[in-house]
Amino acid sequence: MTRILVTGGAGYVGSHTCKALSQAGMEPVVFDHLISGHDWAVKWGDLEVGDLLDRDRIAEVVGRVCPEGVIHFASLTYVGESVTDPAKYWHNNVTGAINLLDALTAANVPPMVFSSSCTVYGMTDADFIAETVPVAPINPYGNTKRAIEIMLQDYEVATGLRHIVLRYFNAAGCDADAEIGEVHEPETHLIPLAIAAAAGDRAALKIFGTDYPTADGTCVRDYIHVTDLADAHVRALRQLLDGGGSDVFNLGVGDGYSVREVVDTVGRVVGTPVPAEEDARRPGDPARLVADATHARDGLGWVPSHSSLDNIVATAWNWYQAQTQILSRPGDGSD
Ligand code: UDP
Repeated sequence: MTRILVTGGAGYVGSHTCKALSQAGMEPVVFDHLISGHDWAVKWGDLEVGDLLDRDRIAEVVGRVCPEGVIHFASLTYVGESVTDPAKYWHNNVTGAINLLDALTAANVPPMVFSSSCTVYGMTDADFIAETVPVAPINPYGNTKRAIEIMLQDYEVATGLRHIVLRYFNAAGCDADAEIGEVHEPETHLIPLAIAAAAGDRAALKIFGTDYPTADGTCVRDYIHVTDLADAHVRALRQLLDGGGSDVFNLGVGDGYSVREVVDTVGRVVGTPVPAEEDARRPGDPARLVADATHARDGLGWVPSHSSLDNIVATAWNWYQAQTQILSRPGDGSD
């Protein structure tokens, strides 16, 4: 079976991708330090607990596992924290990536899919963001993602490391079987917070900014179902395993929804209106971020099929109700 090393495979997008890899007949081996990931989310292959900052540990795992491909998710992802503690982000994300790339260089240089973000485009005015839009990240988190993208190009010249960069828009929704789902601590994302507010488990949702130049004044985002994202990773990996060259793809649906539209959808799906109050803008939030998904469709044959807003919210709500049981199971981690 084709063995794939998945760094950060115990996290949200990583665990959904492991399920998709397994369904595609591949064997994921997860490398994760379990600080933000969860051991209960590793269900489709072995778990190697380790930190990418530990050079010897990642080198030892790569040498022993001999992966035929790598998907690199492991990363710190909080934009706000990256602004107040940039050293933590540069150290963890970039030094961690260097250690991984060095371990792969010392092995057989398997091809890599890299989990990047539309954050690299910064405050672009483009209505639909294609890969040709100039990159200009505006915070340390985005800078670290961009730095790794550049590093991959440099390593390819020297070592032949073929790689595909996937820049996600707003990952959302959960596994249709509710086996795994989104659990962040702290949670900052709109859909899980709106669901928790509607369920009465959190205080009213704050709507960050109602004076944006959008139809209803709230920010517009391109929400992409995590199962569709996982499928794109498998397609990108297959392309590399078949000998394909390096590339960059934006992963979004190409449709935008406002914060108010998301909040209304959550209220309808949950059956209770989301208690919400208007609040100030969140610093660094662009008014609109919507993908031009043409390149991913043409280059990967990728057509999102799970990403209607109703299905995103329904699967997230389903997971919200299921997770209480999963997280309280004896012996399962709760981090
Ligand atoms: N948002 C909000 N209230 C919240 C969390 C998010 O109004 O409690 C807004 C946020 O300003 C953005 C959109 O919802 O416009 C999506 O935010 P999220 O944090 O989910 O993803 P991001 O776009 O930051 O990656």
